[in-house]
Amino acid sequence: MNQPVPAMIKIAVASGKGGTGKTFVATNIFYSLVKNKISAVLIDCDAEAPNDLSFFKAEPLSSIDVKQLVPVIDTNKCTFCGKCHEYCNYNAIFLLPPVKMIKVIDDLCHGCGACSVACGYGAINERPVILGTVNSYSFYGLSSIIEARTKIGVTSPVPVIKTAIRQAGNSAPIAILDSPPGTSCPFIQTTAASDYVILVTEPTPFGLSDLKQSIYTLRKIKKPFGVIINRAGLGSRDVYRWMEENKIPLLGEIPFDEKIARIYSEGSLLAAEDPVYFDEFFELTNRIGNIIKDQITLALNK
Ligand code: SF4
Ligand code: SF4
Repeated sequence: MNQPVPAMIKIAVASGKGGTGKTFVATNIFYSLVKNKISAVLIDCDAEAPNDLSFFKAEPLSSIDVKQLVPVIDTNKCTFCGKCHEYCNYNAIFLLPPVKMIKVIDDLCHGCGACSVACGYGAINERPVILGTVNSYSFYGLSSIIEARTKIGVTSPVPVIKTAIRQAGNSAPIAILDSPPGTSCPFIQTTAASDYVILVTEPTPFGLSDLKQSIYTLRKIKKPFGVIINRAGLGSRDVYRWMEENKIPLLGEIPFDEKIARIYSEGSLLAAEDPVYFDEFFELTNRIGNIIKDQITLALNK
C-alpha cells in the first residue's frame, strides 16, 4: 500500500482571538525552518489584516486578483417571479414584486450562481468583482511567503484565503499557515486545509474561553492539535488545569518577558535574535512532523 504522506505538510497556527501571538509563533517557526535550509512556505491567511511580511525582507514575485462573479439583473427581462430569491441561500437578492423592485446585495452574494440557473427568463447576467489579492514573495531563494489580502469592505475573506492556499500548491515540503483569529468561516477554511493545528493561547480567563471554543471547533472538523501558551507566568494556572483535565497536549510555553515583547514590537524575530529560541522553534516543528507521521501510521493500521 502507498503511504498517503501529503506532498506538502501544512501546519496552521491559530487562536480563538487576535493578539495572543499566533503571528509571532508562525513567523518564528518559518524563520527557523528556512535558516535550517528547509524549503518552506509561509501563508498569511489573516486576509483582513495580513502582517507576516513586515518581519521579513522578501522579494516580490507575483500578484493576482481574486474575483467572484456576481449577478446583474436585467429588469427589462425580469418578470419578478421570485425564483432567484427563493434559490439564494444567502438572502442576497432583495425583491419587492408589487413595486417591481429587485436588487442584488453584492456584500451578501457568495457567487454560487444558483440564481442564474434558477432564472427561466434569461434576466440574469454576471459581472466579475475583485475581492482581494494574493501576493507572492520569494524569501531566501527556495522559500516563499504568500499573502492573502482582502479588499476593504468585502464581507468574506474565504475566497481569497482559498486562493492563497491553492497558490502554494506543493511548492515546498512544509507550509505554515497563519490563520485568521476567531472560530468562524475564515478560521475553519484555514484549519480544515491543514494537517495539524497549533493553538496559541494565554493563561487568562479570556484565553481559556477562546481556547475552549477553538478546540470545540477543531474536534468537530476532526483536526489534530496541540497548544502553546504564550505570556506564560501572567494570569492564573486555570488554563493548565483545564488542559490537564481534558488531556490537551501542551506543545510549549513562551514566557511573559519584556525582552520578547520588545523584539516583537520592533518588527524583529525572536528566533533571529536568540539562538535558544531558534532551536526551540525548529525542534517544535520536528515534533509536530513526528506527530503527523504517527497519525498516518495509525490510520494505515486501522
Ligand atoms: S428568477 Fe429571473 S425573472 Fe424571476 S425574479 Fe429572478 S431575475 Fe427576475
Ligand atoms: S450568486 Fe448565489 S449568493 Fe449570489 S445572489 Fe445568486 S444565488 Fe445568491
